[in-house]
Amino acid sequence: MIKKFIRRLLGSKNKPAAGDLLTLGPKEHKINPALVSPNAVRVTQTLQQAGFKAFVVGGAVRDLLLGHKPKDFDIATNATPEQIKRLFRRAFIIGRRFQIVHVMMGQEQIEVTTFRGASSEAAPKDEHGRVLRDNTFGEQHEDAVRRDFTINAMYYDPANQIVLDYHGGIADIRSKTLRIIGVPEARYREDPVRLLRVVRFAAKLGFSIAAESREPIKIMAPLINNVPTARVFDEMLKLLMSGHALACLQQLRKEGLHHGLLPLLDVVLEQPLGEKFVTLALDSTDQRIRAGKTVSPGFLFASLLWHQVVEKWTAYQAAGEYPIPALHLAADDVLHAQTDKLALQRKIATDMRDIWSMQPRFERRTGKMPFKLLEHPRLRAGYDFLLLRCASGEIDSELGEWWTDFMAGDNNERELLLVRNTKTADKAGPPAKKRARRRGGRGKNPDGAAPAVAE
Ligand code: ATP
Ligand code: MG
Repeated sequence: MIKKFIRRLLGSKNKPAAGDLLTLGPKEHKINPALVSPNAVRVTQTLQQAGFKAFVVGGAVRDLLLGHKPKDFDIATNATPEQIKRLFRRAFIIGRRFQIVHVMMGQEQIEVTTFRGASSEAAPKDEHGRVLRDNTFGEQHEDAVRRDFTINAMYYDPANQIVLDYHGGIADIRSKTLRIIGVPEARYREDPVRLLRVVRFAAKLGFSIAAESREPIKIMAPLINNVPTARVFDEMLKLLMSGHALACLQQLRKEGLHHGLLPLLDVVLEQPLGEKFVTLALDSTDQRIRAGKTVSPGFLFASLLWHQVVEKWTAYQAAGEYPIPALHLAADDVLHAQTDKLALQRKIATDMRDIWSMQPRFERRTGKMPFKLLEHPRLRAGYDFLLLRCASGEIDSELGEWWTDFMAGDNNERELLLVRNTKTADKAGPPAKKRARRRGGRGKNPDGAAPAVAE
C-alpha cells in the first residue's frame, strides 16, 4: 500500500507506474535484430533449450532501443552459476561474493548473471548505509528492482523478440530521461557509485536527469569517499573511456560531484593552466573511442595529470634540481598523491611515468640521443603526448614537426635533420635546452624563417 503510494508520487504522467510490467513486441520496440550479437543469441538459446529463462539485459537493451550497436552483451537467467557453466565449453565463474559467469564465444566475452534477489534491507551495510554484501538469487522482477535506472532494467528475448519493461524504461528512453529506480536517496546510499553512473549515462546518452533523481546528488556526493578505491577507479575509467569524457567531466562539475571527490578531478577541472591541454587530450580520446580505436588508460591519466607534474617539475628545478631528476621527483609526488585515493594500477602508473620521462628526451636532438629514443618501446605514446603539448601551445610546434619527420625518415633523412638541427643551434647561440624554455622562437632562424633542410 505504502509502496504503491510512493510509486504514484514518483511516477510521472507519461510513464506507467513503476512495477507495472510492459510487454512489447518488435513492432513497438523496433529493435533491429541485426544489431544483436549472434553469440549473445546463442547463449540465450542454449540456456533456454536447457529449460531456463534467459534474456539480454541492461545496457545492451538500452542501446538496442536507441538504435546503437551495443559494445557488449550481458545475459540474465534463472540458472545458477554452476548450471550455466555446465552448458558451455568455455565458461568461467568469476567473483567470490556474487558469482557471475564469463562465457567465451570466439573473441567475445558474454557475461551471464543469475537473477538477483530484491531485498537489500537485510543485507549487511557499513555505517553510512552502503551495502557490503548482497548475494541472494531471486526472481526476475526482483532482479529488475535491483538495477540502477529504469532504462537499464529491461529484458530482451532474441527468440521471440519480446522486450519486458518493468519500470517504465521505454517511456524514459522516449523522453530521454534518466531515472533511478525506487527512492533515489536510498539507492545512492546503498551504492554511491550510482552517483557517478548517473552522470556518465546522462552525458553519454544526452539524457536529462529526472528532478527527483538529480536533487540528492550534491548532498550525497561525499558518500563516494567510503567506496573502495578500486571500484571508484573502474567507474571513473568507464566514464573517461565512454567516448564522451569531456561531456562527462563537464556534467560532473555541473552536479557538484568533482569537488573533493577525487584528487584527480580537482586537479583536472580546476587548473586554469592545463585546461586547454586537458580539453585537447579528452577530445582526442573521445574521437579515438568513437572511431573504434583503442585508448591506453596510462596515456589518458598521464594527460590528465601532466600540468600538475609540470608545476612540481618547475618548482624542483627552481630549488636547484637538474631537469631529469626534478621530473622524476615531480612524477613521484603526483603519482603518490593519486594512488592514495585512486587505486591506479601499477601498469598504468608505469606507463604514465614512461610517457612523462620521455618528454625532456625529445628536446635532445643531437648525436645518438634521438636514435636511442627511437628504440623506446613506448615511443609512440610519448610522441603522441609531445604532439598534444605542441597543440596546446605549451611548447613550440616545431619540435613535434621535427620528430614527425625524424620518425618517418630513412637514415639519410634522419642524418640531415640532425645536421639541420645542429646548425640551427649554432646560429641561434644559446644551447637548445635553454632555448627550449623561451617562448616562441625555438628552432627557428633568428629572422624567424624556417630553416632549410639542407643548407
Ligand atoms: P555500458 O554501456 O557503459 O556498459 P551498462 O548499462 O551495460 O552500460 P554496466 O556497468 O555494464 O553498464 O552494467 C550492466 C547492468 O548492470 C546495468 O545496465 C544495470 O542494469 C546493472 N548495474 C550495473 N551497475 C549497477 C549498480 N551500481 N547498481 C545497480 N545496477 C547496476
Ligand atoms: Mg555493459
